[in-house]
Amino acid sequence: MRQSGLLIVISGPSGAGKGTLCKALLDRINNLEYSVSATTRQPRNGEIDGQNYYFITEEDFMQRIKQKDFLEWAKVYDNYYGTPKKPVLEKLKAGKDVILEIDIQGAMEVKKKFPEGVFIFIAPPSIKELKMRICKRGTETEEAMLKRVKSAYDELKHISEYDYVVVNDVLDKAVNKLTAIIIAEKCRVKRNLGYYFNIQQEGEI
Ligand code: 5GP
Repeated sequence: MRQSGLLIVISGPSGAGKGTLCKALLDRINNLEYSVSATTRQPRNGEIDGQNYYFITEEDFMQRIKQKDFLEWAKVYDNYYGTPKKPVLEKLKAGKDVILEIDIQGAMEVKKKFPEGVFIFIAPPSIKELKMRICKRGTETEEAMLKRVKSAYDELKHISEYDYVVVNDVLDKAVNKLTAIIIAEKCRVKRNLGYYFNIQQEGEI
């Protein structure tokens, strides 16, 4: 009996390292798929349409909201971001585990619809380190960077709404922790009821 996949939701302030951690997880864990979001944000250098995001116009985005194409959507730092619903539902149904890298507003929307999901908050070791990481990335204007650092304070207040917090100080350690969380969640009895069903089907010896 095939189990439906695990929905993993990852949030955390910009610069906490969510993207790098997700990439490392995808390399390490089989059967895990990344949900590519749609956004009205302009692509950064090196970002590929359909791989990092689906880069769409605001008009398209509004149309897709109307069509109820999104599992959730939110306005984050002046741009719209949304999770296309159909691919996520199809992958889960096919037994694949799906990872959503989305902001807190979006994560809370998903939690209402999928309370059985696993909600993980990625935190930076400190705000000072966060500032340094965003600066070093060099993808943001000074104004956008300040906005992201300011929001980080507010975002950190929401940790208690998540199931797990992983402080991303040393990348390898953080990846190990995330891997452990996912493995443990997949071993939860409630997610393995099919196993008992199969055993019962075998009948008594
Ligand atoms: P960035 O512009 O740095 O790629 O992303 C900005 C923020 O938007 C990040 O916190 C990221 O997690 C969030 N984000 C990315 N995709 C989605 C999405 O589909 N829905 C929501 N709600 N947030 C998203």
